[in-house]
Amino acid sequence: VEEVPEPRVTKNTVKVKIMNCGVCRTDVHFAYDGPAKPAYFPQIIGHEASGEVVEKGEEVSNVQIGDRVVISCTQGCDHCDYCLAGRENLCRTPRSFGFQTEGGFAEYAVVPDNYVVKLSSSLPWESGVLACSGAAAHHAVYDIAKVNPNDHVLIVGAGGLGLFTVQLCKIVGAKVLVADMDDRKLQLAKELGADDVIKTGGVNYVGQVRDLMQGDGASVIIEFVSKSELIKNDIEILSKAGRLVFVGYDTNGFLNTNPLDLILKEATVFASKGATLRNLREVMDLAENKKVRLSVAATLPLSLVNEALMRLKNNEVVGRICVSPSA
Ligand SMILES: [Zn+2]
Ligand SMILES: [Zn+2]
Repeated sequence: VEEVPEPRVTKNTVKVKIMNCGVCRTDVHFAYDGPAKPAYFPQIIGHEASGEVVEKGEEVSNVQIGDRVVISCTQGCDHCDYCLAGRENLCRTPRSFGFQTEGGFAEYAVVPDNYVVKLSSSLPWESGVLACSGAAAHHAVYDIAKVNPNDHVLIVGAGGLGLFTVQLCKIVGAKVLVADMDDRKLQLAKELGADDVIKTGGVNYVGQVRDLMQGDGASVIIEFVSKSELIKNDIEILSKAGRLVFVGYDTNGFLNTNPLDLILKEATVFASKGATLRNLREVMDLAENKKVRLSVAATLPLSLVNEALMRLKNNEVVGRICVSPSA
């Protein structure tokens, strides 16, 4: 942790005094040389930030000084074909917050005015976690998997994204089963609406899942862990015409299967990348209407950000861990 000059606003940007920033598994990958790497080094990472607008550029009219905001972690160029189609998560020249630009593990951030979303006074500063974990779960469940009330959904991994995914699938009315190796995470998944939970880690749970899914397997599997052995189980568990959706990734995870295993089921494999601004707006509305709950494990002072990263790396966090310059 070190001192850097305060960032300055330009004509279309706002300066946000950061109040809270969630810590994501991607930050752990960035910090400890995982499959995802920061765009440059050294870089201020952190992409689940909320805060108060304290300064704005001369051309900014949609945001006022004093507004409480959540910063969208996905930020596109606003001009390319993907951005114009509302798919800025696939932008050709992205400048996403804490990915290609200086992020939220800081006291201040400067961001484009069109990538902040107003935060209702009824929601806490920890709502910054909606920027990645909430919005990315929203994108995976509603845009990619298109979960419907008839679906039997298996969610693999009850981390920050998995716990939002449970709630978003239950809003639709799907049956939800959650697999994880940590009993405390499974307990929290149940409290958030999971119909059943399965403990993984050294046990063969394929038959157990089939029984709970009434013999037919899962029509949707949303994978947040993506270790090779879990993927192998997923393909076995998937029902006919099932959809397997990858959201999380692992350095040593490989999708290694004979195509016939998928062909016989006429299965579809999807991938879901981050989220769009629309996903963030919609999941923030759901939070405001008390349809989704934040599961914040703890908020540490910003000075302890390395400890927060280490706790997440060591799988000690149940829910989301956050840091705050004012904690
Ligand atoms: Zn993230
Ligand atoms: Zn773009």
